[in-house]
Amino acid sequence: MASKRLNAYQDVLNREPINISFEGRLSDLYGANVFHAEMMREYLPSDTYKSMMASMNHGVRLDRKNADQVASAMKDWAISKGATHYTHWFQPLTGSTAEKHDAFFKPIGPGKAIERFDGDLLIQQEPDASSFPNGGIRNTFEARGYTAWDPSSPAFVIGKTLCIPTIFISYTGESLDFKMPLIRALATIDQAAVDVCQFFDKNVAKVNATLGWEQEYFLIDQALFNARPDLLLTGRALFGHAPAKGQQLDDHYFGSIPERVNAYMREFEVESLKLGIPVTTRHNEVAPNQFECAPIFEECNLANDHNLLLMDIMEKVARKHNFRVLLHEKPFKGVNGSGKHNNWSLSTDTGVNLLAPGKNPKSNLQFLTFFVNTIKAIHDHADLLRAAIASAGNDHRLGANEAPPAIISVFIGSQLSGLLDDLEKNIKAGKMTPQDKTELKLNIGKIPQILLDNTDRNRTSPFAFTGNKFEFRAVGSSANCASAMIVVNTIVANQLKIFKKSIDARLLKGEGKDEAILKELQVLISASKKIRFEGNGYGEEWMKEAEKRGLTNIKDTPRAIKIWQGKNVAKLFDDMGVLTPRELEARTEIEFESYILKIQIESRLMGDIVQNYFIPAAVEYQNKLLKNVQGLMQVFGEKEGKGQAKAQLELLTKISEHINLMKQSSDVMLGERKKANKIEHAEDKAIAYCDNVKIHFDEIRYHADKLELLVEDELWPLPKFREMLFTR
Ligand code: ADP
Ligand code: MG
Repeated sequence: MASKRLNAYQDVLNREPINISFEGRLSDLYGANVFHAEMMREYLPSDTYKSMMASMNHGVRLDRKNADQVASAMKDWAISKGATHYTHWFQPLTGSTAEKHDAFFKPIGPGKAIERFDGDLLIQQEPDASSFPNGGIRNTFEARGYTAWDPSSPAFVIGKTLCIPTIFISYTGESLDFKMPLIRALATIDQAAVDVCQFFDKNVAKVNATLGWEQEYFLIDQALFNARPDLLLTGRALFGHAPAKGQQLDDHYFGSIPERVNAYMREFEVESLKLGIPVTTRHNEVAPNQFECAPIFEECNLANDHNLLLMDIMEKVARKHNFRVLLHEKPFKGVNGSGKHNNWSLSTDTGVNLLAPGKNPKSNLQFLTFFVNTIKAIHDHADLLRAAIASAGNDHRLGANEAPPAIISVFIGSQLSGLLDDLEKNIKAGKMTPQDKTELKLNIGKIPQILLDNTDRNRTSPFAFTGNKFEFRAVGSSANCASAMIVVNTIVANQLKIFKKSIDARLLKGEGKDEAILKELQVLISASKKIRFEGNGYGEEWMKEAEKRGLTNIKDTPRAIKIWQGKNVAKLFDDMGVLTPRELEARTEIEFESYILKIQIESRLMGDIVQNYFIPAAVEYQNKLLKNVQGLMQVFGEKEGKGQAKAQLELLTKISEHINLMKQSSDVMLGERKKANKIEHAEDKAIAYCDNVKIHFDEIRYHADKLELLVEDELWPLPKFREMLFTR
């Protein structure tokens, strides 16, 4: 009789693609389930529509009357789409999204009811949210956090529910989510960038940060996924020997997409498009069964909502296709992990991408200003970027010779490097002559030509300039992009403010505007040089070179989380109006706790799997071998029989050795876990989990993976990598 595992595998071999059918063009579906501006125009009285646009685009508060109008229109529209319920959709610090559904339906007398939804319900809701992490801000007995409408991100219908994007705050007004600080960071950079734009173009009144994410993921057949408790509970394979054929051949990348996968992608893309998520790109990734999906970039807050929605849709649609999607950063040891590149730029209401070189020296000076200030911000706050991407999952990926290193550096390409070096050298300290200025302008004017050759994209850099945007590549695939985007926008805003001050001071001293800007850029270029690195970020030499430069290389999450505790960090976030010290402290606490929980679950599960799956399977095989040895000895006599059973006896011994060592490490780990659990202080506990508990994972796994190679295939209980990664 075949094992459970092999039965599951049989299911997989019998699967067929599940093709959805839909009529019409994709463009007709786009935004069909979104209450976007066009819909609002249709459903709202014109003065309410105007107020709503002001609220969406400029954060102007809606008064009560208008809010009621919007709520009523939203309800009518949603009901026309088949909705019966509404929910405030929010982003608690657990990393996923949350919702609590309420019906529009309201009884008003015996046998009578109406569909009700008014401004109050739209604007604010009190989910019973006592179980969401709050880092001590909100005591559980108080249990009063509330969600508040974010009018800048449009409402949408999923299934039969109207979803209203909201922020999540404590009763005392502190943020308990990702969205609120992101919105604050975006407001801050808007203001700072608009101020700096005034040096170049007085018409600029608004600057939006833009985000284009690229989502990597693995697809695994549901039957195999369900047969692996580790995938089920932790999202990654805690055990498993690398397959004989891995990604060595590089044949998966940009290979043709398997039919079943294609059918899946098609359906989740259709669902995404209906929600206004402009997904356009799909392709295979480096590892077998790994894929990527990317949309056209959007305003940062909206883009982030869309990424969270997409992750949700991907998971739901996957089940329909008998797949499970893995968003974990490193589901399979020995094959590449998954990331989520965050492409980031700044764009003005006059239609200019501030990180794209322009057509003349003037617009190029503006480009250079934003370009150099961004580099300076990364230079000054590299550690914050590192902290922003820290997670138990991402620890397996960063610095693992496949993903950006844990050392933060900036890649800009050799031509732009050359230009910055030139500017640093050639801008004279004293008063500039007209000739100096002309020469510099000529140089700066050449930027677009330079960028045409800027094709040597360095894939090993965590923060790379790619022609008209920066690409933050170290973000983990399961992360909420907001964590990274809060930091990037805050530190660049801060730097732009400093820059503006310096220029104003220079102007007061009588320097000309261009001269002041050039001289200030020179100072910044010079002061931020050490963060620029053009070489191979995976190389051993870079580790040494980075150390010499004084760049930090923070290898694990607890140490990265500690960065939030820096005094200057609290001041920075407070000054920029993004997070109060209390909010920052609470988030830090939550991050420590989330790390502890993740490692704790992995550790417990490892112990269980060793005990309940591997040891029994190995012992069963040993018994089979023993029977065979005994039989041989019976038939051929003890000596002759033993001689014939040489291989079996060796196997028996090897298996015993691995069982013993595996069990021994597992027991030591258990002891360490017990010790760690006694620690009260979250930071110390996280460090104990990292240094004393997690440290045993490799040893336990080593022996388990050896056993996988020794034990008869039929008897091995967990689906193997080759089955999970190469079946379609
Ligand atoms: P890759 O990194 O895979 O080579 P591309 O360079 O083509 O891919 O672009 C990757 C992503 O960058 C896309 O999702 C795109 O939407 C995004 N992107 C392009 N321009 C901008 C911008 N100005 N701001 C933010 N994201 C952008
Ligand atoms: Mg990319």
